[in-house]
Amino acid sequence: MRNLSLSVAAVLGAVCLVEAYRRRRRRTRDDDDDNDDGCGDEDEESESDMPSHVKRLLHKEDRRRQSKRHLAMKKPLYDNIEMYSPDDVLLCTISIKKAEWYLKRNLGRWKEEYKALQLLFDPKAKPKDENTYNTTHKKNACVVCGDSKDFMRHYIVPYCYRQLFPTKYKTHMPHDIVILCSQCHLQCEQHTQIRQKELDQSLRKDPKTLHPRINNHALHKVRSSALALYKRRDQLPQKKVEEYERIVMNHFGLDDETRGISKDVLEEATTMETSGVNKDFIPSADLIVSTLANNPSSIETFVFEWRDFFVDTMQPRFLPVGWNVRSPVHI
Ligand SMILES: [Zn+2]
Repeated sequence: MRNLSLSVAAVLGAVCLVEAYRRRRRRTRDDDDDNDDGCGDEDEESESDMPSHVKRLLHKEDRRRQSKRHLAMKKPLYDNIEMYSPDDVLLCTISIKKAEWYLKRNLGRWKEEYKALQLLFDPKAKPKDENTYNTTHKKNACVVCGDSKDFMRHYIVPYCYRQLFPTKYKTHMPHDIVILCSQCHLQCEQHTQIRQKELDQSLRKDPKTLHPRINNHALHKVRSSALALYKRRDQLPQKKVEEYERIVMNHFGLDDETRGISKDVLEEATTMETSGVNKDFIPSADLIVSTLANNPSSIETFVFEWRDFFVDTMQPRFLPVGWNVRSPVHI
């Protein structure tokens, strides 16, 4: 847990550092505006003065901002349309899209002015009194800090695992999809990735299954020898030139009678693929979910642990009414 806190602190520290530089840059620009000659090249000059590690952070931060704009939801997650049974029992809240689905099939009608839908058939299951989550109105705001800008959908059980669950654990189960703002999302992702790595390490018994591709050391040697000959043959001692030539020639089946290595062969060697698909590779999500073996009790424990983890690490203060770490994990 201490390592986890340290690495989150490091990321946040980096963001603060970048922000400090940005503020300084803005101040410099504001000062210069009075004497602006219209060339507008101050930005590049000030960035070139920065230490390289700050430049790297700055570019990383720019990429994060761009992806934030891309990932931020364009529409609210919750439309909070109340859905009633024919005998006026509030069943749940649904989206406009879902309401239109019922209307189109003549399975429901508007009850109030587009705020509630009444089903025209008796649903199989009615909500249990203790489960208020499905009927409560939910805010389109970050469940951690309450911010309602640039929010995005967050899967409490990471999507890569959830998508491998049996259907009943992932359809009509909105409980473990919540809203986070971009800042809280970034923090949560940092925590989550560390836990995912720890899980993988604790379950992966065979290191041969770790990488999707494996390096062919012999081919790698041929390529690096060719690269050395191609780029800096003149700077190499004669002994090294002969050694590298021998490696490349052996690979292509050339001998001294073919009068050495042509430029085409050398170019081909420098671009050759030196890794291949690892047939033993097991993706992390597959490995972790396979240990649950579709066992209901194991899946339930797994989901509960992720919910506990989310609450412990993010300490959300604005979870919807009825959200509960021990809420049922399937329909
Ligand atoms: Zn937030």
